[in-house]
Amino acid sequence: MKKVLILGGDGIGSEIMRETKKVIDFLNQQKIINIETEESLIGGVSIDAHGKPLTEETLKMAKNADAVLLGAVGGPKWDNVGQDIRPEAGLLAIRKGMGVYANLRPATVFPELSDASTLKEEVVSGLDIMIVRELLGGIYFGEPRGIETLPNGEKKAWNTLVYSTHEIERIAKSAFDIAMVRGKKVCSLDKSNVLISTKLWKDTVTEYRNKYYPEVELSHMYVDNASMQLVRNPKQFDVILTTNMFGDILSDCAAMVTGSLGMLPSASLGEKDENGVVKGLFEPVHGSAPDIAGKDLANPLATILSFAMMLKYSFNQSKESDIIVDAIRNVLKSGIRTKDIMQKGKIEVGTKAMGDEVILALQNLV
Ligand code: NAD
Repeated sequence: MKKVLILGGDGIGSEIMRETKKVIDFLNQQKIINIETEESLIGGVSIDAHGKPLTEETLKMAKNADAVLLGAVGGPKWDNVGQDIRPEAGLLAIRKGMGVYANLRPATVFPELSDASTLKEEVVSGLDIMIVRELLGGIYFGEPRGIETLPNGEKKAWNTLVYSTHEIERIAKSAFDIAMVRGKKVCSLDKSNVLISTKLWKDTVTEYRNKYYPEVELSHMYVDNASMQLVRNPKQFDVILTTNMFGDILSDCAAMVTGSLGMLPSASLGEKDENGVVKGLFEPVHGSAPDIAGKDLANPLATILSFAMMLKYSFNQSKESDIIVDAIRNVLKSGIRTKDIMQKGKIEVGTKAMGDEVILALQNLV
């Protein structure tokens, strides 16, 4: 029995999570998985209830769970609360508290949706990239950081981009391991011509590959060039390995190359425990979409796909994970679409109905 903590969060979070829970319940009933779930609050709803975006108690539940499934946090209601208690601070705190340092963001295009991108169909059809982003270090966590007012009244603020060898090696290992079961190609991104910490990044990744992964083809690219290459010819990439901030920016770019924000899952992984479970936090790439919250318009598929990633990467249940992906593919093949991925001649449905369609497709597969 695996224990999963569900944190719906804000905006559309509770709607997309309700549909994902249907999938978990169905697969439990069929005895395909054996997962016990519990629920708690994160983000704005936690600020409303407890005055902070992540309570000690919820963090403890997350640490005790085998994996966490999260919806999304944030919204205009909490835009003016202090920086340290913003909904997004809850996200950083849970990632840090769970020790999940490897963020995996696949940018894949289902053939049925290859015309959803703003790029030409031939540039994106069949796209399958995995972005591996370092999540617990670099400039988002580096010290010193601060802001001060100078004697002349001017303000000065600073952050620190810091990486040490062990942080780079463990994320490099994640990227190389994933590449070994994909196309055996890693492209590591840096800005080593300007930033010395990313020169260390580049050198450490190269040494680690030479020592442990000689089979993997490693290339390096400056991050500015990579941003161009991602829209020029994204299919040249297999696994992209990069730092926290570069990965944050480029994975959004890759997401939009696919054109379907509502379809993209993500995983954040930590160390493997003594039972072979990789502690993980799984969440859709999109945010809380306050503009459509409560309107039965949200696409729940990114969250359902995040759950599929949980089965694959945390619980080593690839076959069970594939059943979910196949069910989603069949739903898309049958022409069912939520509004965000709607195409001419297809059938538009709401959040709930999309969840029901996935269950129907699952019933046909198991
Ligand atoms: P967003 O991803 O919430 O929404 C961007 C656009 O995509 C909106 O038009 C929205 O309606 C649409 N969209 C997003 N998810 C969708 C889905 N599943 N189905 C259909 N349409 C979908 O980004 P935003 O508007 O920049 O941010 C809204 C809030 O979410 C902000 O408070 C932001 O800080 C927060 N946010 C949270 C996360 C997270 O929890 N990981 C990530 C990004 C943004």
